[in-house]
Amino acid sequence: MTRVVAALALLISAVQIGDPMAQISREYVRLVLAMGDHDKDYVDAYYGPEDVKTEAAKAKLSLDDIGKSVTSVAGRLSGAPAAGGDELSRLRHQYLQKQLAAMSARVRMLKGERLSFDEESKALYDAVAPTYPDSHFQAVLDRLEKRFPGTGPLVTRFDTWRRDFVIPREKLDTVFKAAIDACRAQTLKHVKLPANESFTVEYVTGKSWSGYNWYQGNFRSLIQVNTDLPIYIDRAIDLACHEGYPGHHVYNALLEQHLVKDRGWLEFTVYPLFTPQSLIAEGTANFGIEVAFPGQERVNFEKNTLFPLAGLDPARAAEYYEVQGLMEALSYAGNEAARRYLDGKIDAAAATAWLERYALMPRERAAQRVRFFDQYRSYVINYNYGKDLVRRFIESRGGTAQQPEKRWQEFTQLLSSPRLPSGLR
Ligand SMILES: [Zn+2]
Repeated sequence: MTRVVAALALLISAVQIGDPMAQISREYVRLVLAMGDHDKDYVDAYYGPEDVKTEAAKAKLSLDDIGKSVTSVAGRLSGAPAAGGDELSRLRHQYLQKQLAAMSARVRMLKGERLSFDEESKALYDAVAPTYPDSHFQAVLDRLEKRFPGTGPLVTRFDTWRRDFVIPREKLDTVFKAAIDACRAQTLKHVKLPANESFTVEYVTGKSWSGYNWYQGNFRSLIQVNTDLPIYIDRAIDLACHEGYPGHHVYNALLEQHLVKDRGWLEFTVYPLFTPQSLIAEGTANFGIEVAFPGQERVNFEKNTLFPLAGLDPARAAEYYEVQGLMEALSYAGNEAARRYLDGKIDAAAATAWLERYALMPRERAAQRVRFFDQYRSYVINYNYGKDLVRRFIESRGGTAQQPEKRWQEFTQLLSSPRLPSGLR
């Protein structure tokens, strides 16, 4: 606690003596919080000073007010030197520029401006995901046809096979906790985490997502798992790594440690969801799964620990992950459905049908996904394209699968810095 107080005292004195970056940072936080009144999903986390929140609430800014203030802060920022001169300070300056530009785009969207899917993802997430023709996915489906021969829709054959791998509801918590412990242990071998970091798990229903990490500050998170639809065995490690270790929980804790507590950079106490930061958050959370549990290591752990805990046949773990490997090649199918749907080329029913056919999602899961498109729109690219961008960046710095130590090191550094998508290229 003393470190927080010290960092905040430092910050307040910086504001008082007129450090332009500290003033800009505080103004940025206030504007992000103000956006929360117009967009309920906008403020994903806030653990900064209470008075900034009170100030934002009292001001009752309209979207027009926010838009004007964002432009004015961005102008001041471009004239402000990136104090410090080190790499982190330069990244911080670029980070604020991109985050403000994304806020400005979100204000325009909330006021009714229509952007195409790609324009929107460029404006909000600083990236445009590649486009694939149907034939790209059909080639993968042809391979899956051979794996699941028979009549009727492929999605039905696939779904029938997959039923043997559902985690029974009453075993979910045990399996999930074992997965979290394992992901945490893998992460702790390579990453120094704040001593008091922790989180709580809750099971919820009626959501458009399958899992969510709500970061609460002081190195704590609340992780929610949605149990609306069957949860397959791969989701245990995927969710535990993605939401927890070394994913969102670790990312937020490292930003809090290195940027908020060590440097007093207030802007990192708030996390605006529809901004470039989300591509880094989702991309690292997804790439982190294979950093923590590369290939065979994962299959062995599943076979020896998670399959038995879930009451599933351990002899079938390799078979399950072989099919998962084939399915991975369909990961961009969701983006195509979202792009066509949000660009108005297909309606919700057609998007659902497209996902059933090309992403092999059973009807209910496909319908849940379309609800996700409605709520989060082009955010979908952050998961798969984000993962690919993060992987390429880390590999380009020598963090390849063959150099696991270096990979962890580069990965941890990325999690501790304000780097944004265009900075990954
Ligand atoms: Zn996520």
